[in-house]
Amino acid sequence: MLIATPNGPARLLTKRLRRPCFFTRFLTNISRGLSLPGLIFMLNMEATFTIIGGGIAGLTAAIALRRQGIDPLVFEAAPELHPVGAGLGLAANAIRALALLGVEKEILAKGRFLEGMAFRTDKDALLIRMDTATITQRAGQDNFCIHRGDLHEALLHHLDRSRIFTGKALESVVHDGGRLRLRFRDGSEHLTDYLIGADGIHSAVRHVVLPDVQPRYAGYTCWRCVVPGAQPKGLQGVEEILGPAGRFGIVPLAGNRTYWFACVNAPRRDPGMQNADAAALAHIFAAYPARVLDLLKASEGQPLIWGDITDLPAGHRYDHGNIVLIGDAAHATTPNMGQGACQAIEDAVILAAEIGRHRNDPAEAFRRFTNRRLERTRMVVRRSRMMGQMAQWQHPVLRALRNMLFRLTPQAVFRRQLVALYNVDLT
Ligand SMILES: Cc1cc2nc3c(=O)[nH]c(=O)nc-3n(C[C@H](O)[C@H](O)[C@H](O)COP(=O)(O)OP(=O)(O)OC[C@H]3O[C@@H](n4cnc5c(N)ncnc54)[C@H](O)[C@@H]3O)c2cc1C
Repeated sequence: MLIATPNGPARLLTKRLRRPCFFTRFLTNISRGLSLPGLIFMLNMEATFTIIGGGIAGLTAAIALRRQGIDPLVFEAAPELHPVGAGLGLAANAIRALALLGVEKEILAKGRFLEGMAFRTDKDALLIRMDTATITQRAGQDNFCIHRGDLHEALLHHLDRSRIFTGKALESVVHDGGRLRLRFRDGSEHLTDYLIGADGIHSAVRHVVLPDVQPRYAGYTCWRCVVPGAQPKGLQGVEEILGPAGRFGIVPLAGNRTYWFACVNAPRRDPGMQNADAAALAHIFAAYPARVLDLLKASEGQPLIWGDITDLPAGHRYDHGNIVLIGDAAHATTPNMGQGACQAIEDAVILAAEIGRHRNDPAEAFRRFTNRRLERTRMVVRRSRMMGQMAQWQHPVLRALRNMLFRLTPQAVFRRQLVALYNVDLT
């Protein structure tokens, strides 16, 4: 690795990042219970893999690659790997993917299963209730919700921390012979054969290969919060309340905590929205059911996570020679289907499987990965965007139409869509 001195040119830091010797790696991999093909791969493979981004996609990809006998380095921009964030729904497809990596037990122990999903009006009238447990049984796993910080912690537990470098914000990538030279904001550099961009919706890696692909605003802004000890009575699954002021979602978490989110139509980067606190939201949602206002009252003093909702337009490939994009860096979606992180986890498992299958030609693995992922991830982005638009409708006629559609659509239609979503080939 090349490290820049404060006042001088970059110098090579070889000791810190030198690959462990062959026998050390061999013995470590045996002790890790690596499969026979993985061990054979390790004997042949000297190419280096680097992951940019230590979020859900990056950490899951690192775990999945380790199972294939590859020990990637992970570079993360944040100064520390701090467990932060609000609640996160992991649908049956993501839990199946995590189970394939053998990491699901620890994750399941930190969250709770969700029995269903209900949509209601601001006057508390039921629009539709879906019993997702019977649907997910067919996929072999239930839907699940966890605190994002707990998920990060559980993933990190399965990785060698000495291979993860924090405070490393990637700035540029240049081709150097057949390799890639990565340059970080702190002036340091690193050479790699293959690069996996898992650095989220504002990906620096994507900026290198697809400079014209930019996040697009969905038209609404969102606050999230986790409140301890304020779980509304009888809440077993996700509840979304739709009305003229916007959308309010309530999700039970393990440990008697409640995760809520609120989405309101607004101009992009509105300072008024950015500065809104729980009391301001109580004003916006004043006409919603009492449990919404109770939750907002209980959130006073708790940190809110705020952000405009954006996604990425479709039309680009995820493989670019020896660079590949995964997770939000490739196909960020609005959160309306609760599938962004789920698709990132699927990406990690499928990418590693393809690399395992094309051990001597990872660029071919990247191509096959894209071919397998394009249609599905585009479908999620498209459908999620449409669902978000409908959920945010404010005009009374449009809202009445939407509510009627919810009431009239047979459960079997939703069920079919969910079954198709959850049953994905992860091998
Ligand atoms: C309001 C909301 C609710 C959501 N709810 C759900 C849900 O219930 N279920 C679900 O499945 N998904 C949900 N999502 C989507 C989910 O959060 C994302 O899809 C998921 O976090 C993507 O993971 P990722 O690792 O690809 O990207 P990120 O989580 O964005 O991680 C990227 C990582 O890369 C790092 N990074 C960025 N730039 C650089 C750089 N230049 N150099 C080095 N490192 C860098 C970042 O610091 C970060 O750690 C939600 C999203 C939102 C906004």
